[in-house]
Amino acid sequence: MKRERLDKVIANMGVGTRKEVKQLVKQQLITVDEVVATDPGMHIIPDTQVIKLDGHVLSFKRWIYVMMNKPPGVISATEDSRHETVVELLPTEWAVKVHPVGRLDIDTEGLLLLTNDGQLSHNLTSPKKKVDKEYFARVDGRVTEEHIAGFAKGVELEDFTTLPAKLEILSADEHQSETKVTIMEGKFHQVKRMFAAFGLNVTYLKRLRMGTLVLDESLAPGEYRELTETELENLR
Ligand code: URA
Repeated sequence: MKRERLDKVIANMGVGTRKEVKQLVKQQLITVDEVVATDPGMHIIPDTQVIKLDGHVLSFKRWIYVMMNKPPGVISATEDSRHETVVELLPTEWAVKVHPVGRLDIDTEGLLLLTNDGQLSHNLTSPKKKVDKEYFARVDGRVTEEHIAGFAKGVELEDFTTLPAKLEILSADEHQSETKVTIMEGKFHQVKRMFAAFGLNVTYLKRLRMGTLVLDESLAPGEYRELTETELENLR
């Protein structure tokens, strides 16, 4: 049986770079056959010894695709000095591997995909691919046909003019409107800025869909699950 360095084996599982793996060893988070590893250079026999990270068995499964219903108050990032991040809501063995695909504002809720598949992540976020994103937006004041027409033309913002966007009114009165918005880009604060261009303030925003991937409404805010085979195939 071929023996290999522990840090190399774990890095090859997609957990992180070798440097990051060394750090995990230093933090005493790695065990080999239930014994805490102290030397990242120790030699192991990959298929016969059980490696755990923070108590969870590491396997050779390389790709992780997790759908989360992002709750408000957490940051769409892997690290942040001030706020809890979306990856911190996941079990450690996923948290150390994945990154969020695109960003939602701290107060935005809804569909967020987390993966370690950089290619898929790029395909979903690259402006060239024009993947549409659908949001539910609650807005102060009355949204009208005029706003629908304005969104459909593309909205001029300070730094760019958006592609034509679809605005649907679910309900509207002089105090508050509920809408669905579909945009083709994913620029910083884009939906909020589009409404602000018409003097309207978004009070609640939730992403419902990204391309073919629809938020599983049975996930409560903060809950997550792996994508199904079909969801993944359709996304690719
Ligand atoms: N548009 C916004 O303004 N915020 C988000 O989080 C996503 C889209």
